[in-house]
Formats: sequence, C-alpha cells, structure tokens
Amino acid sequence: MSLGGYRKCANRDAARWCLAPVLLWSAFACAADATPERYGDDDFALLEKIDAHVHLHGALPEFMKRAQADGFRLLTINVNYADFPPLNDQVRDALALQRQYPSRIAFAATFDAAGSDAPDWPARTQRQLDEVLAQGAVAVKVWKDIGMQLRDRTGRAVMIDDARFVPVFESLVARGVVVLGHQGEPRNAWLPLEQMTIRGDREYFAAHPQYHMFRHPEWPSYDEQLAARDRLLERFPRMKFVGVHLASLEWDVDRIAEFLARHPQASVDLAARLVHLQLQSVADRDKVRKFFLAFQDRILYGSDLAGGHNQDDAALAVEAHEAWLADWQFLTGDAFLHSADFEGRFQGLALPRSVIDRIYRDNARRLLPGAWPPTTPAGSGPAAARPGTEP
Ligand SMILES: [Zn+2]
Repeated sequence: MSLGGYRKCANRDAARWCLAPVLLWSAFACAADATPERYGDDDFALLEKIDAHVHLHGALPEFMKRAQADGFRLLTINVNYADFPPLNDQVRDALALQRQYPSRIAFAATFDAAGSDAPDWPARTQRQLDEVLAQGAVAVKVWKDIGMQLRDRTGRAVMIDDARFVPVFESLVARGVVVLGHQGEPRNAWLPLEQMTIRGDREYFAAHPQYHMFRHPEWPSYDEQLAARDRLLERFPRMKFVGVHLASLEWDVDRIAEFLARHPQASVDLAARLVHLQLQSVADRDKVRKFFLAFQDRILYGSDLAGGHNQDDAALAVEAHEAWLADWQFLTGDAFLHSADFEGRFQGLALPRSVIDRIYRDNARRLLPGAWPPTTPAGSGPAAARPGTEP
C-alpha cells in the first residue's frame, strides 16, 4: 500500500505499548491504530484533494474526467494575461464549468488594473467585482501586471499598495473575500538567463522577455515588488491573503517562513514553484521538510496547470495526471527522485498523512468555505470522495 513499504503505529505511545508483550490488550491497541503514518501511491486517487491554482478555459471534458479520476477538486483562476483569452471569456468559461461541476470547480475572479487612474475606474471596477462575486466567484486575484507592467499618467509604476486600490481591498476585506496575490516573479527573473537555477524559469523568461526583469531595470526591483505587497498586508491585517507561487520567495524556505510569521493572515500556494523546494532539498531535505511541518496550516497545494486556450484537452489531461502524481510522490513518498529542471537527486519528503490532508484539502476548504460543496454526507471521511461520486 505505502510506497515506502513501512507500517507502524500512528503515535509514539501506541508504539511503546506494542513493545510490551506482557500486556495482551496492547496488541489490540496497535491493531486498532494500524493506519500507516504516510500515504502511498495507491492512496493518490482515493484521497479527496484540491488543486487551488489552475487556469481552465473552455469545456475540457477529458481534463475534467482526469481530475475526477485522480480525486481533484479545482480552483480555476482568472488572470488578465495576454496569453489567456479576454477576461470576459474567462469569466464565461469559469461560470460554465462551475455550473457543470458544482462540487468540483470553484473560481477566482480578477479585475483589469489598466487605466486605474481614470476617474470612473473605481466605480466601474467595484461594480464588476460585485457582479462576479454575486455570480459565485470565491476569491479575487491580483497579478504581476501591477508592479511590472502598469504606469500611471505621470509615468510612475503602479504598485499593489497604491492608494487607488484601497477601496477595492476595503470592500473585499469587509466581505471576507480571499485575495490571491501574485506580486513579483521568481527571483530568477532578476538574474541573467545563464544564472537561473531552474530550467523551466530559463525557458519561460527567454520566451517572455517582457517579464525577464534582469533586462528591465526601469521597473521596480524584486525587493520593491515584495515590499509593496508587504505594506498592503500591514495595512489590511484582516485580509485573507494567499501569496501564490510561494509568495515569490520560492528560492529560500527561510524567507517564506519569515513572510508567514510576519503576516498571520497569509497563506502561500505551491503553484509552479514546488520545483524550487525540490532544488533546496538536494542540499538540505530536512530543512524543507521542517518548513512543511511548521507551516502545515498555511500551505495550499496548487499546480498552475493551464489549458483549453490553444491547447489540446486530451494532452492537458495527460500532463495534469503526470504533474499531480509527481508532486504527490515528492510530498508523500521517500524515494530518491530527479527533476528535468536541475541536476542532482533529491528525496521525497514523506510528510505525515495529517500534513498531507491539510496541504491538499483542509487548508483550502477552511480558507474558502463553501467553494466545493460536498456531494456525500458529512462525516463520512475521505473515502466518501472516491472518484465516481461526482455528477
Ligand atoms: Zn497561475
């Protein structure tokens, strides 16, 4: 069952009792407590999981079948990104998916921050957000165009803590709406291509030179991007905030830990940045593992899978399954693994079941209550989420 192939009592006290053969009843105590401490590969499809960071465009029947078979519920996030369809189309697609799969799909809206110094921008944006939240959006994403692409009429870069956004955030905080913040980029974006630590980053920034900030000293620095985000959180201590992509601090678990310690209202997601933690675990697996244990209530699983726009549905289904399974093996297993993104081998983190439950499911459900209404009676446990229970 378990990939690592070991079983033992789930807690130290029970294990000690099992070692006392004179106490006959202790054998029963151990037998009753025989659940392995860790999940194995066989548990992958059975455990109800949430991928809290995907971008789905179109109907994607093959991908949705895969998500169901693999036990995933999804948060699809609208982003004002030139590579994606126009925002109105993204909202339309998210609503259609959510109607078709009400317990499997939730969605996050966003707003267009371009032209935010126009006199009618605040009222227009507020109206648009009111509408999309009334339609069922459970969170609102703010993206890296704020800080890296938008300038006001005086030529100044518009940052996330700009006064013009305050009424929008005030309204989201008052309603308890979760804000998903993608500010800055991986630190690699501020390095020359040949110094980047991850092959995927090198490829992305070579293909998207507009975001390769090493080439754009005219925009605020890495530290300035994150400082603006941190000032926003200081101004709104009650904001429910997810620093997506490990809050752009992916290169050092100490920095992520510091961020989470300083901002108790914040969580982070792993989307497209787990590879950076794998790289760190080549050098110090224990440190990365301790990070997960220490912040097990503040980390959300997310993949950043994107598809449906100029992409084959069946190919996305295959890509999703491979990516989900590889992440699961790193987080739950203890095998030695390799990544196509860097040299060197690293060992799976073998996180306990309780930690996996939180990262893959409970943290997202707590932060976004009602986002994925259950299809089975409450209290019937993870097995109730077996594939096939979804309409
Ligand atoms: Zn994303």
